[in-house]
Amino acid sequence: MAKLNPFEVAQRQLDECAKILKLDSNVHGILRVPMRELHVSLPIRMDDGSVKVFQGFRVQYNDARGPTKGGIRFHPDETIDTVRALAAWMTWKCALLDLPLGGAKGGVICNPKQMSQGELERLSRAYIQSVWRFIGPDKDIPAPDVYTNPQIMAWMMDEYSKIAGKNQFGVITGKPLGVGGSVGRGDATARGGWYVIREVAKECGIDLKKATVAVQGYGNAGYYAAHLAKSLFGCKIVAVSDTKGGIFSKEGLDPEAVREHKAKTGSVVNFPNTKPISNEKLLELEVDILIPAALENVITAKNAPNIKAKIVAELANGPTTPEADGILYKNGVHVAPDFLCNAGGVTVSYFEMVQNFYMYYWDEKEIHERLDKKMTVAYHSVLNTSKEYNVNMRQAAYAVAVKRVAEAMKIRGWI
Ligand code: NAD
Repeated sequence: MAKLNPFEVAQRQLDECAKILKLDSNVHGILRVPMRELHVSLPIRMDDGSVKVFQGFRVQYNDARGPTKGGIRFHPDETIDTVRALAAWMTWKCALLDLPLGGAKGGVICNPKQMSQGELERLSRAYIQSVWRFIGPDKDIPAPDVYTNPQIMAWMMDEYSKIAGKNQFGVITGKPLGVGGSVGRGDATARGGWYVIREVAKECGIDLKKATVAVQGYGNAGYYAAHLAKSLFGCKIVAVSDTKGGIFSKEGLDPEAVREHKAKTGSVVNFPNTKPISNEKLLELEVDILIPAALENVITAKNAPNIKAKIVAELANGPTTPEADGILYKNGVHVAPDFLCNAGGVTVSYFEMVQNFYMYYWDEKEIHERLDKKMTVAYHSVLNTSKEYNVNMRQAAYAVAVKRVAEAMKIRGWI
């Protein structure tokens, strides 16, 4: 993958939006940088008795519209600039979905695949011990992201509750059901994405029952994207991948069987009756819908001319570089931009917070209906804005979101 700085990408996207909106330069100046960032060192006792020091971050980008919210990523290649970019995108995402929240993101440089459960628990608790003063149910609410999961959220919630001296379920979302989690959070990112894809397909006249789909990444976002493609709309999944490589089947894959195979072997590769395919080639397949659901900067100026999909639905954050965006737009590819397409996760996270405050929990049907409504309204506001300004869908999504954040800053008297 190209070594592009994701925060520079995020800033360039904002700069482009500022031109389209003729944004006040004072507003633009504030929105180009995070309002606060924490850098912490976390000494952890490893199972072999040694002490290893991990670097952690929390970036709170903008809270004009409400408490900040954003996931925590555990990844060996984590950088402060990735966290800054993700925090910026969270700000736009929450504004676009009209959630009463600002944007934040966290991360720890570590390789969870090489750590024991005990080491991961100590790291998760240490992270909260370092940042607890700066987070809270009405300040900044973390959630899962790449290589963090409901169990890690439960440890973090528990640590924060111990420090607070009372249960504080609302401090973190993406928790397991028994400790204040919400039904429907597990597949929310992919489900929200599919509600958007359904609308895009209507707009460009694609019959989803006959559509073919390729998914890059087979974690939370990618697996559920494949599962829901088949179960909700009857699409055919022809290729999926993970860090170790990809698999292709013209006849179509069974997402459940692939998941079981990955659980047993650690990867989707070598799934019976499939052909191997590289992550790069997967992106260039002749499919109706391509779903990047892994990491940033995978669709670049180099491979964008070779993308044959009619719809690119970005479940990953930042999978497409600004140069690639231009090429896809020129080639008539319909891009459902990341902070619209993958906003289902934060939307159901927001529902989880609301239920925690309420102490009353909704059923799955209610969650799905509320999510569908939010995603559909957001999609149409982006589509209408793209027509109004004659800009692509990402620029339109920025225009809607940035206008809302700028308005809140103005009302509050910040500018
Ligand atoms: P995850 O940890 O559950 O899964 C990540 C998957 O990506 C794994 O299958 C991994 O093998 C694969 N992967 C990692 N590096 C890869 C590479 N270089 N090439 C191919 N595959 C690779 O993470 P997730 O929660 O599914 O997140 C995936 C993306 O979706 C990220 O960009 C994340 O920010 C975004 N996202 C997730 C959520 C959520 O609720 N989980 C919400 C919004 C956005």
